[in-house]
Amino acid sequence: MQEVGAIPALLRQLQAAQPPRGKVLSTYLDTSPARTFGQAYLLTYRDLCKTLRSRLPAEERESFELAAAQAERFLVDDFVPRHPGLVLFASGGPGYFYAVPLPRRPAEQMVWNDLPLLEPLQAILDEYERIAVVLFDRKRARVLTVYLGEIEEHLIIDGEVPRKQKTGGWAALAQSRYARHLDDHLLRHARHTVSALQTILRTHPFDRLLVGGPDETLAVLRHQLPQPLRRRLAGVVHLEPFASHDQILRAALEALQSSERQAEMAMVDELFEAETSAHAVLGLDATLPAVSDGRAHVLLIADSFAAVGGECPSCGRLVAGPGPCPSCGHATEPLADLGDRVVQRALALGARVEEVSGDAAERLLTRDGIGAWTRY
Ligand SMILES: [Zn+2]
Repeated sequence: MQEVGAIPALLRQLQAAQPPRGKVLSTYLDTSPARTFGQAYLLTYRDLCKTLRSRLPAEERESFELAAAQAERFLVDDFVPRHPGLVLFASGGPGYFYAVPLPRRPAEQMVWNDLPLLEPLQAILDEYERIAVVLFDRKRARVLTVYLGEIEEHLIIDGEVPRKQKTGGWAALAQSRYARHLDDHLLRHARHTVSALQTILRTHPFDRLLVGGPDETLAVLRHQLPQPLRRRLAGVVHLEPFASHDQILRAALEALQSSERQAEMAMVDELFEAETSAHAVLGLDATLPAVSDGRAHVLLIADSFAAVGGECPSCGRLVAGPGPCPSCGHATEPLADLGDRVVQRALALGARVEEVSGDAAERLLTRDGIGAWTRY
């Protein structure tokens, strides 16, 4: 079985490969810890086979059974669940069988078709951004990228700190010259590191950049970052130059979460500041009509949003609490989960949805936990 980090290459391979027997059995399985007990995923696999088999035209049964047996053999004999999900592509022929672990649980499904079902795999990949980490001090720079929860180690740039000159009669002058020499050296080292980062940006396109190292050397590095790198700068990690992969993964995750929290807080603050304008609404009474009318283009909702409400079966308006529809007077139907319905509706009408947590959610909850940017 492939490792998670190999998914992108495998996806390209699957896009190019011709299934030898005409059709491919694609199976997405949830293999999270809860599903590995009693091999629940195997039972699901057999159920999915059974359902599909019953709908199959007679002439395809034989090749389907070959593919199904190939995948079953893998699940029974070879598979060791270590990731939350798994996708199998089987044709029944020896040259075309792929088992790919997934970094999150997929929606379980099985498809028998001319081509492998790659869209869910692609969607999972799209969720994962690549993050670059550079650990930078006077002596060296270590550059890594983190992708799909795994580390790709790129290079260590040796800074070769110049040796201190002997002091003599001109000690004072030599001293200042040495300091200047060190600064020049640091600048060159920073430029060298930046050019390595630019190369990696082309070969391993990353979305965000984290930096770590002593403040004064980091300041020099930051000043050398060109716009494409500066735009990606997402925070600082506190790590020793030779931190382990585990330490780097943990620090990267923390730095991203904290930058995510700051971004969420900024989004909520901005909406509160704009409330008096015609383009921002806050609270259920203002936001539900905006979403119902398709005026909302960005919906902000607290992760702990828990208001109750209903939907008008006649005109579709979403309303807070019970009572008749304020638009058409029809009796509304209560919704089990108003939050879910608002999000669905906003997405269906082309709005972007931002779920916020932590302090941002706290502030938004002072106004029912919901608000939106509106078109008019
Ligand atoms: Zn109505």
